[in-house]
This record gives sequence, structure tokens and C-alpha cells, in this order.
Amino acid sequence: LTDNSGRRLGEFDLIRRYFAAPESSRGDTLLGVGDDCALLRPSAGFDLAVTTDTLVSGVHFFADVDPADLGHKALAVNLSDLAAMGAAPAWVTLCLTLPSVNEAWVERFRGGFLALAQRHSVDLVGGDTTRGPLSITVQAIGFVTRDHALRRSTARAGDLIYVTGTIGSAGLGLKVLRGEAETEDREPLQRLLRPEPRVEAAQALVGLAHACIDVSDGLAADLGHILDQSGFGATLDADQLPLSSAVMRYIDNTGDWSLPLTAGDDYELCFTAPAERSAAVDALFERLKTPCTLIGRVEADPGLRIHRGGRCEVLPLAGYDHFRAA
Ligand code: ADP
Ligand code: MG
Repeated sequence: LTDNSGRRLGEFDLIRRYFAAPESSRGDTLLGVGDDCALLRPSAGFDLAVTTDTLVSGVHFFADVDPADLGHKALAVNLSDLAAMGAAPAWVTLCLTLPSVNEAWVERFRGGFLALAQRHSVDLVGGDTTRGPLSITVQAIGFVTRDHALRRSTARAGDLIYVTGTIGSAGLGLKVLRGEAETEDREPLQRLLRPEPRVEAAQALVGLAHACIDVSDGLAADLGHILDQSGFGATLDADQLPLSSAVMRYIDNTGDWSLPLTAGDDYELCFTAPAERSAAVDALFERLKTPCTLIGRVEADPGLRIHRGGRCEVLPLAGYDHFRAA
């Protein structure tokens, strides 16, 4: 590996300079970066939740993205997967494939990554550094109360369906980056570039929600996974979908009401809970000061339907293009 100025910078120098033993805040990290393996000590009474996600340049992000945003997002999408299971994040590893060593780039990437890690008391305990087309793979490990992980397969007919925060914002942000939409509002870009995983809310849903998923591919597709794996269907109410003012304005201007159902990258939680626990769900989100909206109900009848303008339409669970063509 060579740095900006053509100086040879070894893999080991790079690791030592940027990733060597970042300060640990955890007693259960026995050994972090620097040896052949990290040594971690899981707590009794918990199951380990393990997930990994890869971000590839040109596929998941634009090559000229601010590396601090990229570092944040590479970690955020993995913390969101842990959140979707109700797990508390503990450890991450980072595999970086870099076309060359641009120290300023690595420094900013590391800053975005570690700032989010510290906020959630997550230790970076290892990884790999190689040369090649820019790509980032993060693995995240967390704890969930034994036998209590929030799965996709455990929704039941009659459950209420909720979504946290607002949806469609990151999708609008992507349209703005691509020059397909305009807005003065920073919110859509912020949501696309700096998603905030719902780590605390998700853990509080353990024992309350029946099924949960994070909205990474779009609400219809992700709720579709819950419905498929649980063997049920659902009806949503279009008027209840929680939208930011920028997304509302976009829909008013374009008529593209499908955006909040099909656009991905929002990293909100979509979960189901038994109707008799609705007061507990409301109280929980009130206490957390986190917005959470009731958007529909799980039904025995398979498929996904939506009430809109006095009619009930069938929503395809497939990808964006199919939906647009319908
Ligand atoms: P090995 O040859 O045993 O794979 P490496 O030289 O790849 O060891 O890595 C040395 C140490 O640095 C290991 O502890 C590894 O986990 C860590 N490491 C390498 N790359 C990274 C990275 N990008 N982020 C965090 N830790 C890393
Ligand atoms: Mg290695």
C-alpha cells in the first residue's frame, strides 16, 4: 500500500496508526486489535446476535462520498440489524479493502466509524486491511436476552403494525443526490448519509413486540419478510404512514405516493405487537421520546394491502421497478 505522497505505508503501519486498540469501554473485551484473534467474554443469560453487511463503492455508495459519513453508515447499518433482533451491540470487526492508502480518507472514515461506536459503547476488536476496489465489510456482535430475540417469523394475526420515525426520507435523499428531485430541506440527505439505528428502542421492545425488522429495503419489502416468514398478510393505512415534511411536499408535487413504501435505507424499525399491549407500546415510546406510529394490522389473509383514498389496493411485495410498473 502506498499513501498520497507515494510513500510506502505498510499494512501494519496503517493498522497501527488508525485502528490499533481504540479505547475500550467494556470489561468483556479481554483483547482487542493486535493479536491473531480478539478475545471476548459473553455474559451468561444472553444469546449472541451476529450480523455482517458489505458496502461496495458504486453499488451502495458514491465513490466521492464523505468518508466520515461512510464510516458512520458502515457501522450504522450493522447496528440496525442488531437492533432489529432486540440485541444490545457489543463488538464489531472492520474489513477494509482500499485501492490505495489515502491517509486523510482513512482518518475521516475512522472518525465517523468510531464516533458512532463510542456512542453505543461498541468496541472495534479486529478486522482486515487489504488492497483492491473500495469496499467495507463490518461484522457486529451483540447480546439479546436468552430466548427473547425479536424474529421475523413470530407475528400473529390481529397484531398491530408499527413503524418508528419517518419513512421515505433516505429514498428522497438518494433522488436528490441523483438529481432526480430537489428540496431545500437537509433532512432527506441527512437520513441517507447518517442513519441513526434505533438501538435503544429495539431493546425495549423485547418481551413486548412479537416480530421486528429494520427498514433497509423499503417498508413493503421488509414488512413482506415478516408476513412471509410468519405466514400471514396485512392491511396498511396510507394516511397513517409517518412522513417528514420534505417527503410530504415531494409526494404533493409529484404524486409519487409509493416512495415511502418502496424506498430503502431508512433504518427505522417495523414491528408487530398484540393489540392488547398497545397502551404499553404508546407508553414506551412516550418515555423514549421516539416517534412511533400505528400503520396497520396483521391479518390471516396472505398478501399486503393498503387503504388509500377510500379504496383498498393490493401492494406487490417485489422490488421498486415491479411496483412502478403496476
Ligand atoms: P493476520 O495476519 O493475523 O490476519 P493482520 O495483520 O491482518 O493479522 O491484523 C493484525 C491485527 O489488526 C489483528 O488483530 C486484526 O484484527 C487487526 N486489524 C487489521 N485490520 C483492521 C481494521 N481495518 N480494523 C480493525 N482492526 C484491524
Ligand atoms: Mg489479516
